[in-house]
Amino acid sequence: MTALLITVDTELSSSLYQRGVSLEENVRRSIWAEAQGQAVGIGWQMDRLDHHGLKGVFFLDPMPALVHGAEYLTPIVGEIVRRGHEVQLHIHTEWLAWTRQSPVGGRQGRNIGDFALTDQIILLDLARRLLEQAGAPVITAFRAGNFGANDDTLRALAAIGILWDSSVNPAYLGRDCRISADRQQIGAARLEGVIELPVSGIADRPGGFRPAQVCAMSAAEMRAAMHHAAYEGQDAFVVVTHSFEMLSRDRQRPNGLVKARFEALCRAAAGMANLHGAGFYDLSPAIADAPVHGLTRVPPSRLRTGLRLVQQAWATWRYEHRLIPA
Ligand SMILES: [Zn+2]
Repeated sequence: MTALLITVDTELSSSLYQRGVSLEENVRRSIWAEAQGQAVGIGWQMDRLDHHGLKGVFFLDPMPALVHGAEYLTPIVGEIVRRGHEVQLHIHTEWLAWTRQSPVGGRQGRNIGDFALTDQIILLDLARRLLEQAGAPVITAFRAGNFGANDDTLRALAAIGILWDSSVNPAYLGRDCRISADRQQIGAARLEGVIELPVSGIADRPGGFRPAQVCAMSAAEMRAAMHHAAYEGQDAFVVVTHSFEMLSRDRQRPNGLVKARFEALCRAAAGMANLHGAGFYDLSPAIADAPVHGLTRVPPSRLRTGLRLVQQAWATWRYEHRLIPA
């Protein structure tokens, strides 16, 4: 049985903050993703997940609490927990630039991996406490913003007792992600005292990697990738999306293509007998100790790639550069 983890990086926009957008409006636009009278953020995502009997893992970034205070976190955490989904830890350290009470002596960095180990321990511990004080059950999993972690991040997580990391996205390795992980690693593996469960994906060209991100993969590619993982008996398949991903890039309009992909992902997953929705609480650490060898990713398909490019071109015109106002 393959565990399907649908993970949602849930975060305020620091660029909206910098443009003077209020906390309330940032929460509305970035977390609940409200636009044109629709809400297509985490509430909508939980509706779709619930409808199909699936579970979401919401990696929530508490760092804006250093700028805005922590009260705004409570209703977000409360809603996720009330509906039976999982709150886990995400971190965007760029918010340190605007706080007057730096927990790390004013030191700044775009990514958690930019900080020394001792600072990473302070930041991750503080962030975890903010979520737990807002009502989250014990935090057991982490993903770095921008996948910007390094090996010290894993050591820091181990030091504060967080077991799972999902900051490895092979598309970011050698760039923002500086964890010394193997690009070809597909299942869970022990690394620096934690268990690394990388973002899943497909080989979209020979030697290439395309992450299982809702906005980056067509419904057909996602379905093929899930079938492949279940067929090979992989322990887990990790999908990534964002709280605001069902909006156009400027967050002014719902993006019908991405919404349809999310719905198709849920429907396909619900129809597969050998795949079940899960969070990190449902995973056994033993999956890292008995790795299955010879796991692969879905090989390139020119047909699937071609169809995605056509869809993407249509959606870009329809949702991003619309010429005629509706
Ligand atoms: Zn993020």
